[in-house]
Amino acid sequence: MAISTEDPQNLPVTKLTGIGAQTAVRLQKLGIQSLQDLLFHLPQRYQDRTRTHPIGNLIPGLSALVCGTVEFTDASQRGRNSVICRISDHSGLLSLRFFHFSVQQMQQLKPGVHLSCFGEIRQGYNGLEMIHPEYHIIQPGETPTEATLTPVYPLTEGLAQSTLRRAIKQALTLCLNHPNSLSEFLPENIRLALHYPSIAEALETLHNPPAHISTETLLNGDLPALKRLAFEELLAHHLTLLLGKQHYKTWQAPSFDLDLKAKQSFIAQLPFQLTKAQLRVISEIEADCSKPQPMLRLVQGDVGSGKTLVAAISALAALSSGFQVALMAPTELLAEQHFRNFSQWFAHTDSQIAFLTGQLKGKARANTLQALADGNAGLVIGTHALFQDSVNFQNLGLVIIDEQHRFGVQQRLALRAKGQNQGLVPHQLVMTATPIPRTLAMLQYSDLDISIIDELPPGRKPVTTSVIPSERREEIISRISHWVAQKRQAYWVCTLIEESEQLQCEAAENTATYLQQTLPDVRIGLVHGRMKASDKDAVMQAFKQGECDLLVATTVIEVGVDVANAGLMIIENPERLGLSQLHQLRGRVGRGSIESYCLLLYQSPLSQTGKQRLAILRESNDGFVIAEKDLELRGPGEIIGNRQTGQIQFKIADLVRDRALLEQVPSVAQTICHQHPQVVHALIRRWPGGAALQKLDDLFHTVYSP
Ligand code: ADP
Ligand code: MG
Repeated sequence: MAISTEDPQNLPVTKLTGIGAQTAVRLQKLGIQSLQDLLFHLPQRYQDRTRTHPIGNLIPGLSALVCGTVEFTDASQRGRNSVICRISDHSGLLSLRFFHFSVQQMQQLKPGVHLSCFGEIRQGYNGLEMIHPEYHIIQPGETPTEATLTPVYPLTEGLAQSTLRRAIKQALTLCLNHPNSLSEFLPENIRLALHYPSIAEALETLHNPPAHISTETLLNGDLPALKRLAFEELLAHHLTLLLGKQHYKTWQAPSFDLDLKAKQSFIAQLPFQLTKAQLRVISEIEADCSKPQPMLRLVQGDVGSGKTLVAAISALAALSSGFQVALMAPTELLAEQHFRNFSQWFAHTDSQIAFLTGQLKGKARANTLQALADGNAGLVIGTHALFQDSVNFQNLGLVIIDEQHRFGVQQRLALRAKGQNQGLVPHQLVMTATPIPRTLAMLQYSDLDISIIDELPPGRKPVTTSVIPSERREEIISRISHWVAQKRQAYWVCTLIEESEQLQCEAAENTATYLQQTLPDVRIGLVHGRMKASDKDAVMQAFKQGECDLLVATTVIEVGVDVANAGLMIIENPERLGLSQLHQLRGRVGRGSIESYCLLLYQSPLSQTGKQRLAILRESNDGFVIAEKDLELRGPGEIIGNRQTGQIQFKIADLVRDRALLEQVPSVAQTICHQHPQVVHALIRRWPGGAALQKLDDLFHTVYSP
């Protein structure tokens, strides 16, 4: 290849020897197109071929490099059609067994040939054996060992480990030897303070680790080379969001004039007083919205802390300044509940409230769209259907997203594009009841200012939680009948057992039928995701009005549903859900002033960690504490709250394994923005972070390009 001044990292993989069009297609399945992509495709583990093991020392389970002389090669007499090649060294005998082989191969392995082979040792019929080892005929004078540990890369169908190794080796050599490649973007003083190797050293170490590093160290995240890459990836992600925020703040937004009278009469109609925390957060929002720059604010508040009212009073500020408001909820059920609440709260105002979900069709939909387009509807409540292309606003001033954790970063950014109108963008308020550990919040929401409602309305009693094995199911069922006899209501939640909504709904139906047979006097309702919206609504209404005692439901009731007289919740198979999600579900009870209970009915036997996790819920009612503990108990590689859709997938960083690194990210990002702004874009570009960040990047271009 001719030397050019251009960075070889940007070259397509087909420029490498041995990579043709077909291999390129396979590499693309791994997200690899350029040499840079190859370099950042890290091994998932390593093999140690830096030393040979005497056959006499081998034990089953060990993966080892072994050298020996062929004694014989012969077709096996027993079992499947296979070939056995017996080798020996001075210490013992080892059988190599091949199920796929060619005549030529058999002829090569003739007695007296000196062989090195690598593979996992197992116990065979006649002593130790290796199945399909990688082998190599040693020529006189050749050493069988390798100088560095051997990387094992994640593969895809049709791609051989050896092809990928050769390609990465070539890419690494090209880039390491090129003066304009693998530039260092971390400022020197920061890098040295963190004890990180340069990017070039880090990649070299991870692809070709020196023999003295143990394979465990390479994987457990302690190696500076790996830390450095993970750190840089997190930093790039953080910078991407910060940049998004900076850009967004350069736009103009409508500034709202506060109508104090309207606000006072709004608050006066409520049957309770707002908490101090609610008032504080409302004033933070009002201060943001009175400025001509768009607000980007996240309100975090535990379940039941009263976020909906904070949203409503923020909406009031927009409406009384003559701007439209869109409130998006993650489920129809929650959207409907908000719609009912808002309709009641805003009844005394002259604002028209519209409702828009995917279910709305035909003429009704057309009318709603029309009302939004010409501004007749001031406030619209709905699901993500709100942000389809066909929806246009006359003058959208405020976007509120409830239960933000259900939506992804991309959706958050796409929304910003939506509201843009005559050079003005809307203010944005996002709300979440899923407390995430502070360090993660700083990373995931670094494009947002954060307000926290750290107080629950007075009089709330903590929910008493018990962890109970499924063997005691009947006892629990009889407890329901006592409960209901006291004119109280309860929930029975069937969790996701199968990854299919259909099956989940069937499970809920069966449970409802069974409970009805066992408890003939109890009025039982059923809601699940497959029911028609109107049917769901009817059941929910009946439950709310007390016409139904026990609501059997799938996790559709997770968010927002609010019935004060329902103080008992049974959750089946809680071990299958994330703790934060369980905490959310549990938040449906304990809403009124009655004593309330949550029974976690687990399927036994339950693992030690499983028990520990559920015990956290029993011991704490604080969503933040639960989130922190949950994180501590998770092993590397487990995704945070696996039901949280739209989460960024990192290429190298692992939010659990690398959580100590997160602490340093925000301050380093600040330093870089202020002192080394020239590397910000370079860093972001180096880390497309797989599809997710790439999409993010595209969005920035569509949203922010002048
Ligand atoms: P979340 O923060 O989980 O969304 P909600 O907004 O649904 O909580 O509020 C939970 C319940 O508390 C609702 O019934 C709501 O009317 C009530 N609520 C909200 N604020 C207060 C308050 N300051 N005092 C008493 N009850 C309140
Ligand atoms: Mg809510």
